[in-house]
Amino acid sequence: MIFLATIFLKTMHISRLLPLCSALLLTLISSHIYAAAIYPINDASILAGSKFDIKVELNGVINQDELQIQINGAPVTKFVNAKPEFIANENGKGSSIIFRDVQIAKPGKYSMTASSPQERLQVSWDVYASGPRRVKNVILFIGDGMTIANRTAARVLSKGITEGKYQGKLSFDDMPNIALIGTSGSDSLITDSANSMSAYTTGHKTAVNAMGVYVSRATDNLSHPKVETIAELIKRNTKMSVGIVSDAELEDATPAAVVSHTRRRADKQYIADQLLVSGAEVILGGGSAYFYPQSTKTSKRKDDKNLVEAFKSDGYQTVFTKQELLKASEDKSTKKLFGVFHPDNMDGSLDRLFLKKNTVAEFPNQPDLTEMTQSAINVLSKNPNGFFLMVEAALIDKFNHPLDWERAAFDTIMLSNAVQIAKDFAKTHPDTLIIVTPDHTHSGSIAGVVNDAKAGPLREKVGTYADAGYPNYPKANVEGYPNQMDVSKRLAFFYGAYPDHYETMHPKLDGTFVPAIKGEGGNFVANSKYLQQQEDAIHVGGNLPSQQDTGVHTADDAVLSAIGPGSEKFHGFMDNTEVFKVMVESLGLGRQ
Ligand SMILES: [Zn+2]
Repeated sequence: MIFLATIFLKTMHISRLLPLCSALLLTLISSHIYAAAIYPINDASILAGSKFDIKVELNGVINQDELQIQINGAPVTKFVNAKPEFIANENGKGSSIIFRDVQIAKPGKYSMTASSPQERLQVSWDVYASGPRRVKNVILFIGDGMTIANRTAARVLSKGITEGKYQGKLSFDDMPNIALIGTSGSDSLITDSANSMSAYTTGHKTAVNAMGVYVSRATDNLSHPKVETIAELIKRNTKMSVGIVSDAELEDATPAAVVSHTRRRADKQYIADQLLVSGAEVILGGGSAYFYPQSTKTSKRKDDKNLVEAFKSDGYQTVFTKQELLKASEDKSTKKLFGVFHPDNMDGSLDRLFLKKNTVAEFPNQPDLTEMTQSAINVLSKNPNGFFLMVEAALIDKFNHPLDWERAAFDTIMLSNAVQIAKDFAKTHPDTLIIVTPDHTHSGSIAGVVNDAKAGPLREKVGTYADAGYPNYPKANVEGYPNQMDVSKRLAFFYGAYPDHYETMHPKLDGTFVPAIKGEGGNFVANSKYLQQQEDAIHVGGNLPSQQDTGVHTADDAVLSAIGPGSEKFHGFMDNTEVFKVMVESLGLGRQ
């Protein structure tokens, strides 16, 4: 009885019950009972006509003819053409069955049951239609890890603030529609960029490190039950173009989740292969190491495939510097554009435009996110059928992790500039929906102003409340950046989740902050380089586990801003899977 009851709980309600009665359940049952499952999971929302895999995992080992699967009382075969794959005993954990490429055309409530002589599983799904297409283009900007304080810091630096009033707004500040987005995944309160972006691109929840799949008990990363991405839906059902732009490696989680299906975001060679077969007309970013054969010096591939050559023979213009990018994007004959500008993540705007630190000397010709955005729009907008473009400002997250708020703020300004390009495009193409959203947040906050003129040790220089006054950054240049960060009155920007580190309250002018390094015994300890540089730096004992060398993502809501037809659907608090829903409804991708 307990056995059956707990299986039922697992599929129906266990996520809600767990906080209340996990201790009770754990004392009653052994953990292997949790293995029984159906994917898509209970409460999943599924776009009518989209492709997805159904997987049933039983605890018992049975013959296939003992398994009965029904959807709304009818045999599952009514919805499935392909022959299912039955696994008699998957990894010694029980019998499984997988139906690939299932489609449900009719919207409504669906209940699926799987019964064997010993077990009964049940899930409910909501299948929704999209209605007719309402927009020609969708541009989705991801400010990776952009928390509210990144946005505020960018506005202070870029626009200035006098007697309480900002002297201007970021480009996404005046978008008419705003929503708070919940970012948690199917497995955990705290998300990573793989599963949070996957929620945006598929409308389904998944687990940390996974994209385009539900995480089942399969051991092979690529055989988990798949769900279709918005780029795949577009390519299968329309003549629209697709663009993918990121200043991270193009194999990094956010761009990868537009086209890939893997349990592990670290499958970067596979992800590069998926970018090639995706048919996306514009692909621009970092991560060239996975596009070149292993014999090449900077290659990270484990085979001899040359994807750059493959893109060329597929008719792509290939570009490797900012100059080549701008030339190709202005060339009227460019229909498909592939550009990689760095073997790894690209450099951020503070380094590229001002400090010339990190890898800027080695790679001096990297384009700005604005140039990649403009080039992508130039090429994609040639398609009279419209386009879907994803642009990621990836480095906001890459700089929040090591508690380097100044670099994160500069890249938030860069994101604002890139969004302005899309808004300018939408002025002449009003049938464009523009969405700007983080995929998750970080723990930063602005607590006051550090004033070097105050007496006493470093912490006494932090002014709070009336004592904070205002910082004295120079007025920003025409691109929105102040040309000096090490001013005498600076933002006191503090992160709330951190490893051991030295707090210097100064910008890191010699390269991205490295808060913690491995100490004796393998735990991460504060990087003493910063104490050597600045003898009044404050040692801060970490509040994260000692194996953590950087700050971490947080469950705080992400703030989404949107403009254009369909953007009015963004309001209040929404789940991240609903961002997918608004996009596919706007593009009419779920017609019966
Ligand atoms: Zn991150």
